[in-house]
Amino acid sequence: MSVITHVEIESAGVVGAGGAGFPTHVKLSAQADTVIVNAAECEPLLHKDKEILRRHGDEVLAGLAAAAELTGAEHAIIAIKEKYRDVIASLRGKLSPNMSIAPLADAYPAGDEMILVYDVLGRVVRPGGIPPDVGAVVINVETAFNVASSQTGPVTEKFLTIGGAVAEPVTLRVPLGISLAECISAAGGPTVEDANYIVGGVMMGQLETDLDAPVDKTTGGVIVLPSGHVVIRRLKRDWKQVSRIARSACDQCSFCTELCPRYLLGHPVQPHLAMRALGFNLLSDAGLPGAEFCCECNLCSMYACPEGLDPKVIYAENKRKLAESGEKWQDPPFNPRRPVLHMSDRKAPMSRLMTRLALTGFTNTGPLNDTTVTTRKVGIKLKQHVGAACEPVVKVGQTVRIGDEVGAVPRSDGKPALGAPVHASIDGTVTAIENNIVRIEKE
Ligand code: SF4
Ligand code: SF4
Repeated sequence: MSVITHVEIESAGVVGAGGAGFPTHVKLSAQADTVIVNAAECEPLLHKDKEILRRHGDEVLAGLAAAAELTGAEHAIIAIKEKYRDVIASLRGKLSPNMSIAPLADAYPAGDEMILVYDVLGRVVRPGGIPPDVGAVVINVETAFNVASSQTGPVTEKFLTIGGAVAEPVTLRVPLGISLAECISAAGGPTVEDANYIVGGVMMGQLETDLDAPVDKTTGGVIVLPSGHVVIRRLKRDWKQVSRIARSACDQCSFCTELCPRYLLGHPVQPHLAMRALGFNLLSDAGLPGAEFCCECNLCSMYACPEGLDPKVIYAENKRKLAESGEKWQDPPFNPRRPVLHMSDRKAPMSRLMTRLALTGFTNTGPLNDTTVTTRKVGIKLKQHVGAACEPVVKVGQTVRIGDEVGAVPRSDGKPALGAPVHASIDGTVTAIENNIVRIEKE
């Protein structure tokens, strides 16, 4: 196989498969001394990254090698939990001389890029910065897999774990745009009558009520839980409830801050001060400075706070306000010489987190079914990535084949916007283009 290029990765529509969907050809335009494949996968009950590595280690290593080549990196590292010894053993014999494995503790959080770069390299990214600032580029396992596949075709499939209260927790391989309902059905369906669906994991995911919603390039998993479950009750609290309880019950113990990983890195994130600002009516419509540096890991709310309060929601709400108001903390305080203290011993051990979240009763495996789930219709989102939504390049009634481009990145002044093209994931006919979704059905 010839050397993989930025253009091939861009044309294939590869974006970050483990987070917000940052276009990978742009990420790999940075220069770095180290590329890290992020296999930390610290969300409880999710298993797709480890399963991809177990079944498709060769492709992931090929994607990692390509990423190292494109960024000029001398070192290529796979960061994976130490407990997955079989996966690590299967990779060891295949590593190139510039590749190594960084074993991680079984704790939360671990997959956040800033935390991973510190855990693996001991380097601290300043607030508002990105890993290339300290010579590192981080890509997800599935992203590396897609980079390796970019010479043979565009991204038309997705891996995701379906876990929690389903008959057969599993990691599926599905066509992009398949409905969540079909994925849940492929896992045997819910085992509870009052099922709730969290897309993306119990710590950082969102409740989804529309099961017709299509899977996109960033969908990492769906966790099914009954209505009375503690996680569902927490996620269903609205802002009014969160702020009312917070005002009356926060005793300023600061446990939330002492366990906040961004605070431990030296970033200006102190959730107890956000709670204090709320209690004294000091929050403005412009948003609370510092909220933009919270990674929304939810450790403060779901684990640290002894009162069951929600400092993460306070920060998330203020982050949204900051984004709307356009306010940015231009030069946030940061001392690069301040040592990072306690990072390893203040994470939540996974077993304790699972107990705290009442998840120990669920099967905690998600073996990969590598046969692509079939479907008769898909909805291809025109925006599955950070940046501008794609413009449709097909018309209703048009016949398309798997891999045909159905949405292109818009251009202005001859230059493409930040984004990545999207492609048909089944053969069929375009039946509708609505709400930024291209609908395709098999004849
Ligand atoms: S841990 Fe809870 S009670 Fe303590 S300061 Fe934070 S929000 Fe308040
Ligand atoms: S969610 Fe809480 S613990 Fe996580 S970074 Fe934000 S403030 Fe810190």
